[in-house]
Amino acid sequence: MSAPGAARIRTRIAPSPTGDPHVGTAYVALFNCLYAKKHGGDFILRIEDTDQVRSTRESEAAILRSLTWMGLPWDEGPDIGGPCGPYRQSERTEIYREHAERLLANGTAYRCFCTGERLDALRAQQLAEKTSVQYDGACRALSTEAVRERLSSGHTFVVRLDFPRDGVTVVNDQLRGNISFENKQIDHQVLMKSDGFPTYHLANVVDDHLMAITDVIRAEEWISSTPKHVRLYEAFGWEAPRFHHLPLLRNADRSKISKRKNPVSLDYYERIGVLPEAMRNFLGLMGYSLPDGREVFGLPDLLESFDLTRLNLAGPVFDRAKLEWLNGEYIRKLGPEGLADRVRAYFSPERLLEVAPVLVERLARLDEFAPMASYLLGGGHLAYTHELLLCQKSRKGVEWAEATEITEILQRVAETLDTVRPWTAATIEAAVGQLCTETGWKKGRVLSPVRAAVSAREATPPLFEIMAIIGGSVCRARLREAAEWLQAHPRTSS
Ligand code: GLU
Repeated sequence: MSAPGAARIRTRIAPSPTGDPHVGTAYVALFNCLYAKKHGGDFILRIEDTDQVRSTRESEAAILRSLTWMGLPWDEGPDIGGPCGPYRQSERTEIYREHAERLLANGTAYRCFCTGERLDALRAQQLAEKTSVQYDGACRALSTEAVRERLSSGHTFVVRLDFPRDGVTVVNDQLRGNISFENKQIDHQVLMKSDGFPTYHLANVVDDHLMAITDVIRAEEWISSTPKHVRLYEAFGWEAPRFHHLPLLRNADRSKISKRKNPVSLDYYERIGVLPEAMRNFLGLMGYSLPDGREVFGLPDLLESFDLTRLNLAGPVFDRAKLEWLNGEYIRKLGPEGLADRVRAYFSPERLLEVAPVLVERLARLDEFAPMASYLLGGGHLAYTHELLLCQKSRKGVEWAEATEITEILQRVAETLDTVRPWTAATIEAAVGQLCTETGWKKGRVLSPVRAAVSAREATPPLFEIMAIIGGSVCRARLREAAEWLQAHPRTSS
């Protein structure tokens, strides 16, 4: 690692608010926060919401909430402002437009007027010829006159980054050394879409520069974008920041961590009662180790010996059992009083108030509350059985459904619910209803295994109301867990 120069160290995370707050975001945030702290610098939170279709304010709020829960404070961000704001890209479109103009003026970018049909045909041809799929640079050759003509007759266009076809672009990764990319493999990236919105590449580079970011610490999956970024820095005449690409978190089978194999939502871990300090410690262990090999350590210990070059680049496995072991260690550190405090915070008055409306009609005594509310308040594993998941009871009697059918239903419902925001009884009901219309599945057929998956009970208060209380991250995880349980436990006799 080259020693940070004289400039004040500034790091950032730049999440896109398109879903649940991801454990990967917290992992990258932890290392950015530590690096900034170690060097007496600043850690910035920037929201990359250039994808207008998928970005939501609910998701942004959830990301901020989860990072606050994690105890990773930022020095500048959309909620607290700072000298380089705004910190939300959708509020910076004019800045990107001006910067795209600059590149057009200095000839490092060009307007592309190609139609969708032409691009589709080009792609099909390249696929058939088994050459790399990329734009062929046709509009690069347009004369100034031809461009003017198209503009005055109202043709829409995108702005593309020009890239020489010959030579190589070298990315200097602080953790990996130099990585060379052949320029002919690099597409003429769209920087500005026809609606005037920037793509990730333009907005990211412009903001990292304007926000004086000295060190870009992000996941490995962005390495392949980095030559485009290096080219963009050159095109603007700016000095590039240092790049450090962290290894990807992996599932137990070493594939990239994914919700299909592991809950990835930070909200899920908060809801199942993981302590933030245990989560920080756990994510700190992902690829990193203290010189003395200790496994249980807090941020101050981590900070003391922190050196990003000690990171092991072989993808660390997100091992849920290890997280739970570590969490237990932290619970034991709390002592009885500390534990009582944390439990009180976990079953907060607000949370109890969410549950009370669905149980108030059903209780004869207060002591029934805890057992009746356990699946609503907690988040941990439920005990599934074939009877619960596969038995379909109707007026006609009991029918056993095929495990494959129910597995598919549970997986499809989980997938459908991935995008439901805000998470309310009405929005859940609408999404499940739409899925039933699309697939032709009968509602009753779908609702009974869904109820079993989210509650492990035969009878519950109204399903969509309990799902709203349980929370999206936990419901989706339970639906997937139940589907997995069915796959792992074939029914041998009926
Ligand atoms: N918006 C990107 C993301 O969602 C940021 C990647 C980067 O850090 O450059 O992860």
